[in-house]
Amino acid sequence: MTSSEIRRHFLDFFQSKQHLIVASAPLVAKNDPTLMFNNSGMAQFKDFFLGNGTPPAKRVADTQKCLRVSGKHNDLEDVGFDTYHHTMFEMLGNWSFGDYFKKEAIHWAWELLTEVYQLPKDRLYVSVFQGDDKDNVPFDQEAFDLWEPIVGKDRIIYGNKKDNFWEMGDTGPCGPCSEIHVDLRSAEEVAQQPGKELVNADHPQVVEIWNLVFMQFNRKADGSLEPLPARHVDTGMGFERLCMAIQGKKSNYDTDVFSGTINVIEELSGKPYGGTMDKSDVAMRVIADHIRAVSFAIADGLVPSNSKAGYVIRRILRRAIRYGYSYLNLTEPFMTKLVPTLALQFAEVFPELNAQRDFVATVIREEEIAFLRTLGTGLGRLDQIVTDTKAAGNASIAGETVFELNDTFGFPADLTALIAREKGLGIDEDGFQKALQEQKTRSRKDAASSAGDWIELADATAGSRFVGYDQTESETRIVKYRKVQNKQGVQYQVVLAETPFYAESGGQIGDTGTLTLLDAGKPVGRLLVVDTKKENDLTIHVIDPTQAVGYTSTVMANEPGKAWGVFPPKSIITTLSNGDKVVSWPSGDGLEADQLEDLFKQSDAVRAKIDTIRRAQIAANHSATHLLHSALRDVLGTHVAQKGSYVGPDALRFDFSHFSKVTDEQLAEVERIVNEKIREDIPLDEQRNVPIAQAKEMGATALFGEKYGDFVRVITFDPSYSVELCGGTHVNRTGHIGLFKFTGEGSVSTGVRRIEAKTALGAETLVNEQMAIVSELKEVLKAPKDVVKAVQDLLTERSALQKQIEALQNEKVQQIKNGLLDKVTQSNGHAVLVERVDVPSADALKQLAYDLKAKVDNLALVLGADINGKPQLAVMLPDSLIQDRKLNAGQVVKELAKNIKGGGGGQPFFATAGGSDSSGLDAALAQGKELLA
Ligand code: ATP
Ligand code: MG
Repeated sequence: MTSSEIRRHFLDFFQSKQHLIVASAPLVAKNDPTLMFNNSGMAQFKDFFLGNGTPPAKRVADTQKCLRVSGKHNDLEDVGFDTYHHTMFEMLGNWSFGDYFKKEAIHWAWELLTEVYQLPKDRLYVSVFQGDDKDNVPFDQEAFDLWEPIVGKDRIIYGNKKDNFWEMGDTGPCGPCSEIHVDLRSAEEVAQQPGKELVNADHPQVVEIWNLVFMQFNRKADGSLEPLPARHVDTGMGFERLCMAIQGKKSNYDTDVFSGTINVIEELSGKPYGGTMDKSDVAMRVIADHIRAVSFAIADGLVPSNSKAGYVIRRILRRAIRYGYSYLNLTEPFMTKLVPTLALQFAEVFPELNAQRDFVATVIREEEIAFLRTLGTGLGRLDQIVTDTKAAGNASIAGETVFELNDTFGFPADLTALIAREKGLGIDEDGFQKALQEQKTRSRKDAASSAGDWIELADATAGSRFVGYDQTESETRIVKYRKVQNKQGVQYQVVLAETPFYAESGGQIGDTGTLTLLDAGKPVGRLLVVDTKKENDLTIHVIDPTQAVGYTSTVMANEPGKAWGVFPPKSIITTLSNGDKVVSWPSGDGLEADQLEDLFKQSDAVRAKIDTIRRAQIAANHSATHLLHSALRDVLGTHVAQKGSYVGPDALRFDFSHFSKVTDEQLAEVERIVNEKIREDIPLDEQRNVPIAQAKEMGATALFGEKYGDFVRVITFDPSYSVELCGGTHVNRTGHIGLFKFTGEGSVSTGVRRIEAKTALGAETLVNEQMAIVSELKEVLKAPKDVVKAVQDLLTERSALQKQIEALQNEKVQQIKNGLLDKVTQSNGHAVLVERVDVPSADALKQLAYDLKAKVDNLALVLGADINGKPQLAVMLPDSLIQDRKLNAGQVVKELAKNIKGGGGGQPFFATAGGSDSSGLDAALAQGKELLA
C-alpha cells in the first residue's frame, strides 16, 4: 500500500463512520498564545473542547501537519538519530465533540488497523491509564473493559500519568488515554523477547502509533479536576509510523514518504543511504526530515528570520545545512534542490507547497548561501580558538566559548566538537550545557506570565459574537473574566456576550475603547479597554485596572423644573427607562483588583463602545492595503503574495514576496494607481458567509497559511480590481481613505519586501509637514520661482566663493610671512621670532609657522593671533633648543597658554594652543620671547 493510499483509507474509513473530513490547519499557529506551531491534530479544535465555539460537525477527521520543535513537544534533537521522530509529521485524527466516546473510538481504531490495514493482531499492544492517587483519578476501567475482549489481558499495559493522561495545558480539558503500540521486529527477535516488555522503552521497532484521548475532566488553575459537561474523543496517529508498519519497514525513512527525497540527497552527495547510525546516514535523515518542516512552514507564510517562529525555522534549516556540510561534504546550496520533489509528492494533500514552489526554493537558497558564508567565518574563528586553546595549554575548548560560537555564529556544539576533535582537542560539554541552560532560564523568565481561572458570570457558551462590522457600540454583558499577571503588571481579561471590539488578527490591530458597567441602568464603573486580542476564537478585552474608574450615582426623580446640583467634573448623566435621570461621578482613578472584581459582579450589563476615530483610521489603512495589494500585482506581477501586514491607526505596513527592490518608478506607479482607486470612490461590497468554493470562483485572493472556514467573508472593491478573503474592518467607500502616501520601502528578509504607507489623517499630516518645510524654505530663499534651482544656485555660488576666499587668504598669509622674515633676530646661535599676527584661521597660523621654518634655519618661533575673538598660539623649536636646553614645544605652549586661559599640546618641535582670553596674548608673547632668547 502506498502512503497516499494509506492516508486515503484513513479518511475514507472515518467518512464511512459519518465523520466530516476537514483540511489541515496551517503549520503556524495563529491566535493561540500558548502555541507557536500546530503540534497536534487537536490544536485547531481547541475552542470546541473549551466550549468557546461550535464545531462544523460532531464527528470530524483529517490529517494535520504538525511541527514539534518548540515548547512542550520538542523532538528536534532526536531527529536523524532515531528513525521514528520527525520535526514535521502528519497526524491522522478522528474527533468526537460531545458525541461518541470510548467504545466507538476503541472499536473503530481496532477495525481500521486490523481489517483495513491488515496489521497482524499479535503485534499490537494497547495501554490504559492506571489511575493517579494524587489527582484522585481512578484506573480507566471503562477502557480496559472495552480492550480486554479484543486484545486479551496480556496485551494490555498499565500506563502512568506521564504516558497515559493527556492535558491541553496547565489548565483546561484533560483525560486518560489509550495508546496503541506496534511491534515490527523480526520473528526471531520476537521469539527471544516479548514485545510487551519493549513498549514505551524507546525501542525503534516497538513504537507507539496511535493515541486515543478521552477528554472527560477540566483542570483548574489550583490544580484540581472537575468533570467536563460534554465528553470528547481526540485521537492522533503518526502517519509516517503507520506507513512504516503497513509497508513492513524498520524505519520511517524507508517508506515511500521519504524515499523520493533521500534519492535526491544520494544523488547530490554521491553517497548511498545505508540506514545505519553512521554520521552520513544520520545527516541524510536530518536533511530529509528538515526540508519538509522548512518548506511547509515557508509555504504557510513564515520566513526564516531572527525572531520567534521565523528563528525556529531558520535554526532547523541551519541544522540540516551543517549536517550536509559536515558529513556529506555538501558545500553548495542543496536544500533548495529538494523542494521540487517534495512539492510534487504532496501536490494533492497539501497543494500550498506546489503552488509556491519557486518562492520556497528561492527563500531556502538565499538562506543557504548566507549560512554557508557564516559557516566559513565560524570555521576561521574556530581555527583561532583552537590555536589559543592549545597555546594556553588546555585540552578542551571552554564551554562558554562553545556556547558563544553557537549563539552568535549559529555554530552548533557538535560541529565544534567534531572539528576540535580533528585538531586533537575536546570541548567542555558540561560548561556548554550550563551556559545553554542559563540562557533558557533567562528567556523563560522574560516570557513568564500567569493566568487565573476564568470566573464565569453568565452562560459561557454565549461566546463573543462580533457585531463590530455594523455597530460601534453595544449593550451587552460580561460572560467571564480573569486576572492575568504579565510583564505589564496585573491586567484583566474580559469576554462579552457580544462585542463591537475588533480583536487583533489578520494584521489589523485590536480596537480600544471603553466598557461602562451598569447596574440597573446606572453606571457603576468605566473601564478602559487598552487592547483587544483573540485567543483561538474568543475575543478578549484587555483591561488595565489602574485606569479603571468607579462611579458614585444618585437618582434624580424626573421632576421637571427641579434644580440640579453641582457635580464633580467628568460626571455623566443617564436616563433610566422610567424617565428618571441618574447622575454618576467618578470616585477617583484606578481601582484595586478586588474593587474591580466587585464591580464586575455587581453590574448586570455593560455598554461597550469603541474609539471610533481610531477605528476609522484603521479602516482606512486596511482598505488601502487591499488597494495596494492589487496595485502591486498590476505593477510588479502576479507573483506578489501577501506575507504579512500591520494595519494600525497610525500607519500600514505590507510585506509581500518579491525578489528585488521596488524601483522609485514602480513605487510612483503603484501610488498613482492606489490614489486613482481612492478617487474613484468605489463602494465597499462586503459579503459574509460566502461558501469558500464560491469565494474562490469570485477570484478572491486567499493568503497562504491562513485558516479559512467553510464560510468566508469577501471584501470587494470593484470585482475587476480587488477581491479578498478578509475579516477586517473597512471603509464604506474608497473615497474615505482620502489619500495614500508611501513612507518607505525595504527588505524584511530574503524574497520579502516591505512597504510602509500612511492614509487619511496620517497622510494629511505627512503632507502638511512636508509642505511646511518647503514653504519655510521658500520664505528663507525669498520666494524664488524654482526652489530646487535656487538651492542648487546657492550651493554653486558658495563653492565658488569658498575658492576665492582660500586664494585671498593664501595671498595674505604670504604677505605676512614676507613681512615677518624681516623681524627675525639671532640669539645664542639660533634664530628667534616672536610676533603677534593677523591670520584668518588656526590652520593658517600653523601653515605660517611651517612656511617660516622652511625659510629660516634654526628658528625658535612663537606666534600669537586673535582669530574671531579666540586667542591662538603656535610654538616651533629648532633641534638645538630641544637637545641642548631640553625644551619641548608642547610644554612651552602649555606654559604660555596660561596667559590666555587655555591649553594645548603637540610634538616636541611644534605645538599649538587655544584659549579664551585674548587680552593675555601680549603677555604670552612676552614670556615666549624670554624663554626662547
Ligand atoms: P512519542 O512518545 O513516540 O514521542 P507522543 O506520546 O509524543 O509519542 P502523541 O503526542 O500522543 O505522541 O502523538 C500522537 C501520535 O503522533 C503518536 O502516537 C505518534 O504516532 C505520532 N508522533 C508523535 N510525535 C511524533 C514525531 N515527532 N514524529 C512522528 N510522529 C510522531
Ligand atoms: Mg513525543
